[in-house]
Amino acid sequence: EVVCVTGASGFIASWLVKLLLERGYTVKATVRNPNDPKKTEHLRSLHGAKERLHLFGADLLEDGSFDSVVEGCTAVFHTASPVSLSPADPKAELIDPAVKGTLNVLSSCVKTPTVRRVVVTSSIVSVAYNGKPLTSDVVVDETWFSDPAFCEESKLWYVLSKTLAEEAAWKFAKEKSIDMVTLHPGIVIGPILQPTLNISTEIFLNLINGGQTFPNASYRLVDVRDVGEAHIVALESLSANGRYNLVADVVHASEVLRTVRKLYPTMQLPGHRCSDDKPFEQPYRISKERAEGLGVRYIPLDVSYKDTIQSLKEKGFLSI
Ligand code: NDP
Repeated sequence: EVVCVTGASGFIASWLVKLLLERGYTVKATVRNPNDPKKTEHLRSLHGAKERLHLFGADLLEDGSFDSVVEGCTAVFHTASPVSLSPADPKAELIDPAVKGTLNVLSSCVKTPTVRRVVVTSSIVSVAYNGKPLTSDVVVDETWFSDPAFCEESKLWYVLSKTLAEEAAWKFAKEKSIDMVTLHPGIVIGPILQPTLNISTEIFLNLINGGQTFPNASYRLVDVRDVGEAHIVALESLSANGRYNLVADVVHASEVLRTVRKLYPTMQLPGHRCSDDKPFEQPYRISKERAEGLGVRYIPLDVSYKDTIQSLKEKGFLSI
């Protein structure tokens, strides 16, 4: 079976490509620059890549860029989307590539009758930001939608890009009768396959590598291996439909550090002091029922912390 993965060089997509190759799929994968070894070498060296991985150059903002890649595929995993938390020009850097790019990829799918399902890597950020306070009694389930006006007022540009992209995707999929599933991971951690540091792993690195204090904040965490598996389940499960949150747990920074301290007693971690004097933000819940119903299971977070730290060490991003 031939499937397409957009944005294949990324943190999540690299794992997805690896798992797809292990399952015997043939993968047509896009990167912006297939001649850049930093983006492709780790993919080319995956088991099965020589025989079944085909790399293509494609850009989200170039109309028709994905047509020839999607051709002949039975499924498309659309993961490519810019991730940046402080863009100089939010529209050009985040919103346009996210929204136009998604519609560009979906348009290629409409032109290709062999495509039976599209799995889009959305985010929990397109679910949870509607202005309702996230207090400890709250359960965020898939009926929640982030509110673009709230995101714009709060200048949450990445959140806005993912929210508008998802909204546009559902509108287009309904109009064109595309069988689409959207996945909504939290902050993804776990072993890194690509040579560069992506933003979610950097967030984790900053937390454990931080200064004297830790932030009074909760993190919605999930392991990249589970996110990769969930993409495949979303394709292979006939009954998969709609939106699926992918969050193993919502954990306060202090709790993450407590566990890491137990795993690495000699590691230099931020002190026991919180960055503000307020009571600890109590974590809310993200519902897991829909994803678990599909068969998604989560690696325990202490295992994810350990494997992330190990990988950060191996890649030279962390010295402990
Ligand atoms: P990375 O930054 O590692 O990867 C992003 C990918 O998007 C890269 O492969 C990049 O391609 C591609 N991309 C960006 N802009 C363009 C463009 N204009 N044209 C073509 N490709 C482009 O990110 P992640 O693996 O972390 O994220 C992958 C997806 O998962 C994104 O959609 C992100 O929003 C979503 N997500 C990530 C979470 C996380 O915590 N990591 C959480 C929830 C959702 P290239 O390398 O070729 O430039």
